[in-house]
Parts: sequence; structure tokens; C-alpha cells
Amino acid sequence: MIPITVVDVRDAEDLVLEVLRSGAIAQGKMVKRFEDAFAAISGTKHAVAVNNGTTALVASLQVLDLKPGDEVVTSPFTFVATLNAILEAGATVRFADISRDDFAIDPDRVAAAVTDRTKVLMPVHLYGQTADMGKLAPLAAEHGLHVVEDAAQAVGASFEGRRAGSYGLGCFSLYATKNITTAEGGVITCDDDTLADRLRVLRNQGMRARYQYEMAGHNYRMTDLHAAVGVPQLEKIDSLTAARQRNAKRLSEGLAGTPGLELPAVQPGREHVWHQYTVLVGPHAMLSRDELAAALTEKGIGNGIYYPKIVFDYECYRGHPLIPGASVEDFPVAASVAAQALSLPVHPALTDEQVDTVIATVREVLGA
Ligand SMILES: *Cc1c(COP(=O)(O)O)cnc(C)c1O
Repeated sequence: MIPITVVDVRDAEDLVLEVLRSGAIAQGKMVKRFEDAFAAISGTKHAVAVNNGTTALVASLQVLDLKPGDEVVTSPFTFVATLNAILEAGATVRFADISRDDFAIDPDRVAAAVTDRTKVLMPVHLYGQTADMGKLAPLAAEHGLHVVEDAAQAVGASFEGRRAGSYGLGCFSLYATKNITTAEGGVITCDDDTLADRLRVLRNQGMRARYQYEMAGHNYRMTDLHAAVGVPQLEKIDSLTAARQRNAKRLSEGLAGTPGLELPAVQPGREHVWHQYTVLVGPHAMLSRDELAAALTEKGIGNGIYYPKIVFDYECYRGHPLIPGASVEDFPVAASVAAQALSLPVHPALTDEQVDTVIATVREVLGA
């Protein structure tokens, strides 16, 4: 069996033991060490660690002081946490369809979705490649919007040399299967001193100094135990990313020309960190996406469907007062991608032989 992800955090043993033995296990100096390393990687002045990626998104919206009726424009093709975070923050959600090239929000569609109530643009850097920030950042500036990046899958990715998470408030996830993990965890990156300060206070019950409360806060803290799991990975992030990039390149070379298969492309000027390697199984392939997924599973090739439906296309969101007028028919690109997307193993633990087995098996079952 070749799994779709492998979690390997063995190199954190010493640091985790150090924290355990110290008795100082909650948020403390290991979290600070993690934050400093993360800020350096993101090219931002600040990195604020929190307890998960969803929290990172919620906290980012909370420090922007949105009022009821304020709108956030985001992608309809994303993990459900993007949507849930906006709802949790009490903002109204507007969606803009994605582009088939990068699976991220399409700048032309964003322009059409912006109203005078729009306060935030929340692009999702899906699968490890940034959205088209060259167009989205100026668009946000033109309309006076805050940028909150859902960079959960994109640690280390960049657009024309500028890192994901450096365009406003950058929200990262450190969940077990993400490129960098602390088991559960999240980070918010930014250059703005005031917002970073507010995030740190918000994270700790709104408390600046002991029992001095400045806002109604929450407990969003990360622990030193979790931070210790992540620190060694940050130290070797370049080699982890390089391994993913090497695997992706090998997959693309090996799968080129497979009938009916559309391979993922790195857009010019962008550095892709390959959280997922996602192909589109088109109508001319010998098998449907679901048939291909089943055939690969049967042959021991791990695979995943991220994501099978438009994010709001579930009973629990229908008629939601904060998702007014959202209709599946308005997002044809997201709908077709959701029906065709299939992710193949690309993680750093793969050997060349395993990558070749993935390629050979996909080609075989598609009759190539
Ligand atoms: C993983 C993920 C999140 C949520 O992160 P958690 O750490 O699981 O809370 C948000 N958005 C996207 C796109 C993700 O992939």
C-alpha cells in the first residue's frame, strides 16, 4: 500500500522530551521559538501561533472588527473550515468561482462579487499553490478590502518571490496531514504590528497583563509540547518541500499524455509546495474519477478526493442567513473540478520506485 500521506515526526523526540521534562508544557518559550522560525519562513514580521488552522481564520476575522452584514469573498472550492470560520466570525459569505488553472478564486469573478458591504477578500491557496495574488492584491487594495489568506495548505509557497501569508493576515494549518505539522495547530502571519498585538491579546482571553482585559477574548493558545513537534520540521522545510517538488515533477513526466487526464500545472512566477498533487479526470478518460479512485485503492495506491462538492452544497448550509443567495449553478468551474479532481501521493516519504508504481498503475488502469 502506498498511502496518500505519511506523518513522520520522529525527529521531534528530543525536543518533545525536553519540554516534557521541563514541566513547562503550555504556551511558553517553545511556542516563541516556533513563531520566530515561522515568521522567518513566511518573510513576515510576525507569526502568532494558535491551536489550529480554523482558529487562525476565525481570529483573523475577529481582529478586523467586522460588523453584522459585512461580507467576506472567498472560494466555493475549499475545505469546509474556510466557510465555517467566516460563519463563526458572524460575517456574510460571498463566493466567487475558481479558475481551472490554479483551483483558486478567479480575479475576474472576485471583481463581480464585491459589493459595498465587502470588507475582506479571503483567497484559498489550494493544494500548495497560491492564488493569483498579482491580480488579487491590487483588486483588494482598489476596493479597500483586507486580505485574509487561507494558506492552510501553502506553507513555503510563493508568488513572484513573495511568500504565501505575507499579503495581509496569513492563516496556516499545522494539522497532522499538512506540509508542516504540530499534530493540531495553526499560525497567523502578518507585518502589521497592531493586528499582531491584537491577535496575541485575543488568543489569551483578551488579557494583556494578568487580569487586565482589553477585549472579550478566547483561549486560542498553542502548547509548547505541540510547538516542539513542529520546530525540527521548520528547520528542514526546504528539503521537505524539495522532495514534494521532485515527486510532483516525476509524476508529471510519467503521467504526461495519459488520455483524459489533466495534470496540475505550476503557474508562471509561482512556487508550488505540492500539499496535494491533483489531477482532473476528464470525460474522455477510460474511467470516471470515482472509478479511477476505486481502481487505485484496490491496487494499493492511496488517493483522495479534495473536495467532492462545492463547499456550501450540504443540507446544513441551505438557507443559512449568512450565506444568502448562494447557488451551485453560479459556480460551474468549481462544480466541474469537484467532479473530476483526484489527488495522488506526492508526500516527501515516497521513494522513486513508489512514485513510478503510482504512475504505472494510473496508466495501466486508464489504458495508456
Ligand atoms: C486544513 C485546512 C483548514 C483548517 O485547518 P485545521 O488546522 O484543520 O483547523 C482550513 N482551510 C484549508 C484550505 C485547509 O486545508
